Amino acid sequence: MKFDVLVLGAGMVGVSCALHLQQKGKSVALFDKGLPGEETSFGNAGIIQREAIEPYGFPRDFSTIFQTAFNSRLDVRYHFSALTSLIKPLATYYHNSSQKFYPKICKEYESIIARSIETHIPFIEQANVEHLVNNQGFMEVYRTQKALDTSVKAAERLQQHGVHHNVLNVKQIQTEEPALRENFVGAIHWTDPISIRNPGGLVKAYAKLFEQRGGHFYQGNALDLQQSATAEWEILDIKSDMIQAKEVVIALGPWSISLTKRFGYTPPLFVKRGYHMHFSNSGSVPLNKTVLDAERGYLVAPMEQGLRLATGAELAHLDAPSTPNQLDDAEQIARNVFPLGKRLDAEAWKGARPCMPDMKPVIGALPHTKGLWCAFGHGHQGFTLGPATGELLADIMVGDQPKIDPLPFSPSREFWNS
Ligand SMILES: Cc1cc2nc3c(=O)[nH]c(=O)nc-3n(C[C@H](O)[C@H](O)[C@H](O)COP(=O)(O)OP(=O)(O)OC[C@H]3O[C@@H](n4cnc5c(N)ncnc54)[C@H](O)[C@@H]3O)c2cc1C
Repeated sequence: MKFDVLVLGAGMVGVSCALHLQQKGKSVALFDKGLPGEETSFGNAGIIQREAIEPYGFPRDFSTIFQTAFNSRLDVRYHFSALTSLIKPLATYYHNSSQKFYPKICKEYESIIARSIETHIPFIEQANVEHLVNNQGFMEVYRTQKALDTSVKAAERLQQHGVHHNVLNVKQIQTEEPALRENFVGAIHWTDPISIRNPGGLVKAYAKLFEQRGGHFYQGNALDLQQSATAEWEILDIKSDMIQAKEVVIALGPWSISLTKRFGYTPPLFVKRGYHMHFSNSGSVPLNKTVLDAERGYLVAPMEQGLRLATGAELAHLDAPSTPNQLDDAEQIARNVFPLGKRLDAEAWKGARPCMPDMKPVIGALPHTKGLWCAFGHGHQGFTLGPATGELLADIMVGDQPKIDPLPFSPSREFWNS
């Protein structure tokens, strides 16, 4: 079985790369240890974040750093055992988040975020899954006037970049979301983002579209990839079928480095883990859209599976056992705000955002090894950026003029800005 391109990893990023390469006329095989969309791309909040043109920077104020150090914040927790390995990426992240470098990073990030909805919509239409789309934007609710004012200022800044919002008062919040039980001082309603009622379902629908268009899906271990005597790439799937390809895209999300390091490429990827749990709705009205309790740092999204409570970041080793105390703590607060009924999952879901310390994904040729390409490191917005990444990578691979400058995302870049 010979293909032009083998895409390793069938999360949102890998499936989107496969679809774009197929659109360029390439014969493509998609490869995963499981089924499409069952890892990080399954359990996220499902927001296609058109508003996220400023990626999450490392906090620079003393009070936040102090609270984080004591593990007393709800939005960020860490495992003490992971600190040694995190020192270098976090120091780089802190450095890049300074006012000297952050504005340039935002400008570069904006170039790809701006393509997010535009690149999702055709796939959503072609895959016939408009029923998964919630077009109502999403809402950040605020408990204090000070925090609201700061966020309104930031939202006004983003408006100059074509990102739209409404500021809501107490009464307007109640009209928009009668399911909320607590009185907030105000809210920002982002109107551009769309939300997906079943993120894993969307990835599966994209993968089905890929197969309907003649693409092939295989299961196996991506770490078995070998270079053949003819300098092509080959891998055995679980049925012992040999798959050969001239080029390979590594889109293994948080697991990507376990493969790239074999080829001498070890960018400083670290993970921010997150948890979710589904709940029944104990109230009489539905939650219309995703709501972020901004000053606490968790959100609740209306999903096909129920009300999905999703947490902020847990800095830990990728494979360390689950410690869902962040979820338990968020649930306690969320029960006063949202109509959370009974827990619907046997245990908390855990995923890991694949983060780079310069806050940008890694898209392009893997240095020094011909025929290997990177598409990973999308941090908080990989679900948003899958199709935009596929578009950029496919253009680079076939030599077409990319719609955005690929250099800021190059795997060969320095991750420590200077
Ligand atoms: C709680 C939470 C909320 C989030 N909310 C949002 C959001 O609202 N919007 C947004 O844009 N992003 C969100 N994210 C981030 C987003 O989910 C990720 O950035 C994105 O899913 C990464 O996609 P991916 O395709 O790179 O990785 P994945 O979806 O993890 O895909 C990687 C694939 O590689 C496969 N794989 C791994 N190892 C091997 C191997 N050895 N052999 C074969 N296959 C292998 C896996 O099975 C998997 O299918 C959130 C993340 C979390 C944790």
